[in-house]
Amino acid sequence: MKFGTKVIHGGLEPDPLTGAVMTPIYQTSTYAQEAPGKHKGYEYARTQNPTRSALESNLSHLENGSHGLCFASGMSAMDAILRMLNPGDEIVSSNDLYGGSYRLMRRVYERFGIASHFVDMTKAAEVEKAINAKTRLLWVETPTNPMLNVVDIRKMVELAKGVGALVAVDNTFASPYLQNPLDLGADIVLHSATKYLGGHSDVVMGALVLKDDKLAETLRFLQNAVGAVPSPNDCFLVLRGIKTLHLRVERACQNAAQIAAYVRQHPKVRQVFYPGFEDHPQHQIAKGQMRHFGGMISFDLKNDSLGNAVKVLSNTHYFTLAESLGGVESLIGHPASMTHASIPKEERLKVGLTDSLIRLSVGVEDVDDLIEDLDKALSVV
Ligand SMILES: *Cc1c(COP(=O)(O)O)cnc(C)c1O
Repeated sequence: MKFGTKVIHGGLEPDPLTGAVMTPIYQTSTYAQEAPGKHKGYEYARTQNPTRSALESNLSHLENGSHGLCFASGMSAMDAILRMLNPGDEIVSSNDLYGGSYRLMRRVYERFGIASHFVDMTKAAEVEKAINAKTRLLWVETPTNPMLNVVDIRKMVELAKGVGALVAVDNTFASPYLQNPLDLGADIVLHSATKYLGGHSDVVMGALVLKDDKLAETLRFLQNAVGAVPSPNDCFLVLRGIKTLHLRVERACQNAAQIAAYVRQHPKVRQVFYPGFEDHPQHQIAKGQMRHFGGMISFDLKNDSLGNAVKVLSNTHYFTLAESLGGVESLIGHPASMTHASIPKEERLKVGLTDSLIRLSVGVEDVDDLIEDLDKALSVV
């Protein structure tokens, strides 16, 4: 089955009870049992819900996995993975990643004796140096947020296997349409379904997809034991969003390519970070593991100052100033004060995250209007 068919049919059947083509919202917390322990596979809705099961099955098809698990948010999905670790275990991750992921590792799990090392994951030698016998997990995010670096997933898998560590890939920025980390050897894929999967900025949800049965059993145990599960209504919304994932992401990629070219030639722009440029340092790696280059772009200003960034951010009309990404509408954001405010400034500057860095999540609007919008905003600087 090809991707455009999977989004609509993968792992989904009409409702067995009524034939309803769309998976119904099973808004129930519990299920009637015929006799104690005699039931139809559903006992209590933290453990199983048919709307959630349909979404989990659909997601596992999209990522070529065998198991999908949904959580109340991307962060709670990540939390389930980190809960598999024990005190003394270590994580190796990137120094350029989603601020909330950094916060969870640094501010929550470090207290439980699980140390994280943040290195430049585009340099295999740095990753190799940080890996040791205690390393249990490589946490990979690619493309990275917000610098749009690309990490070589195959290479990270090779390094992790050397010490028997797991590789988890945060695939939120790419979406399953553009990149399938399990095919490249990763053990677990994470999505913030809040972003491209939901696609309409109306749900917060997270998901994991994996192949290994034993690992899935452990994660499913944690999903139920901890209980950070999404509501059936939200599962319905994400199921609906996924049906147009390929169309939305395709258009966002086309728009982003044109916008990236436009901002690059703008006299007030210093540098544009976009993996689709042939001179992007990891352009070839992106080509080797992604279908297209995504809908995310970052750029900073020649006249680097918070004040100038604020001018641009306050003068767009279609690009809405907001956190998040991956929706049909274009968003503009300021990582230093928004998504990445929880990362200390020295750490931010080390990776090039300056005060004037602006991040775009390009939506599916008409690209001419989007370019005109940016043109007006940049003229104010
Ligand atoms: C948003 C995001 C998360 C966190 O997901 P939530 O659904 O907000 O909890 C994790 N990783 C990346 C790359 C994200 O963009």
